[in-house]
Amino acid sequence: MAETQVVVVGGGIFGLGLIAALIKSYSSLKDKAHVTLITDREEYVYLPANLRNAVTDISELYIRPYSKLFTKVPDFGTLKVAKVTNILDKGKTVVLESGESIKADILVLATGSNHSPPSDAIGVNRKEIFQFFADQRAKIKSASTIVILGGGAVGSELAAEIGDVYKDQKRIILVHSKDLPLSNIYLYSFREKVANILDKLGVTTIFNSTGVDNGDGTVTITHKPTAQHSEKSETISADIVFHALTPTPNTGFVAENFKNSKGQVIVKPTFQTLESDHVFALGDINDIVEVKQAAKSLSAIPIAAANVISVINGQAASKTYKPSLEAIGLLLGRRHAAGTIELPCFGKVNFPGWLILWLKGEDVLASKILKSIGIY
Ligand SMILES: Cc1cc2nc3c(=O)[nH]c(=O)nc-3n(C[C@H](O)[C@H](O)[C@H](O)COP(=O)(O)OP(=O)(O)OC[C@H]3O[C@@H](n4cnc5c(N)ncnc54)[C@H](O)[C@@H]3O)c2cc1C
Repeated sequence: MAETQVVVVGGGIFGLGLIAALIKSYSSLKDKAHVTLITDREEYVYLPANLRNAVTDISELYIRPYSKLFTKVPDFGTLKVAKVTNILDKGKTVVLESGESIKADILVLATGSNHSPPSDAIGVNRKEIFQFFADQRAKIKSASTIVILGGGAVGSELAAEIGDVYKDQKRIILVHSKDLPLSNIYLYSFREKVANILDKLGVTTIFNSTGVDNGDGTVTITHKPTAQHSEKSETISADIVFHALTPTPNTGFVAENFKNSKGQVIVKPTFQTLESDHVFALGDINDIVEVKQAAKSLSAIPIAAANVISVINGQAASKTYKPSLEAIGLLLGRRHAAGTIELPCFGKVNFPGWLILWLKGEDVLASKILKSIGIY
């Protein structure tokens, strides 16, 4: 029987998690399948650690090459550092920026979201990525006024990291459209706690407002109307404007018939695309309704891997995924944290900050995560 070519596009936490699960089944898959990871840079960058790294240098802790991924099973996998620009033949052909085409019997798409810096790094190799973060740190260090647009998890954590190091030395302004940080799917008391911590760290929060980066060193902030005043706007100067608004799925290279109007790849509960049973979509890019988080890979990957293995074995994919209850643990600088979780019998509860600090530690959980996905 010819080897099944499994092509994984995107070396993020979901793509790597899937490959780690396939490597675990190496003894039963070695004569049947070959895995190719196509990803567009040489180093794995664990996104949750980027915000701390933009302020305090931790690059060495979590930016690691993909080169050792298949060291233990060299005949089973191939790494290709390249950007995918097109998918043809209903997912049977993957086209690279260079023009090269790669055949796929099973295609797994896991290309994540488009994030603004510093949420994601710019650069292909280690030198460029390290330099990117050094530049971010220098920019922040020399700024007097920093405006962050978007007070979701990323905006709040970034503001807190800056406040943790530069409290009272800079004006740090966080603009958010809601009445408190994050969204109202989370407990009000948790969101209040986040707001209080930001306040302690010297962050000025401007709620119920939207900000527009004018691109000339100014930001126009529009405050929603209240009982006291009608809508009003002000324009302020900023040395840096960070964009931390909801990111979009990184699916520009995927044909429209695979996607919904938000650009997400439409999947069945098996993670197979509606369009084609041999194309899977994992992680941030699929249309499963849940908060997009790395943590979701813990429950999603075992199901996706079992289904990919079934298809390799010529069987139908039978494991189905149900979105899990939502939980979030925010690291707000090195000394503060806040979290909330939804439990089956108790509903939504807060969990203590010290527990998150203990769990995520200095490296934002990077060492444990990297090990679990085969990056050393
Ligand atoms: C700053 C920040 C903090 C976060 N904090 C947390 C947290 O604390 N906890 C949590 O659970 N989640 C957190 N998240 C969310 C989490 O990081 C994402 O949900 C998760 O990384 C999604 O994984 P993924 O594999 O789908 O995509 P990604 O991890 O984004 O990986 C996608 C990969 O695909 C590659 N790629 C993209 N396009 C192409 C292409 N055309 N060709 C080839 N390769 C391509 C990219 O380079 C990347 O390596 C955070 C996100 C950010 C940005």
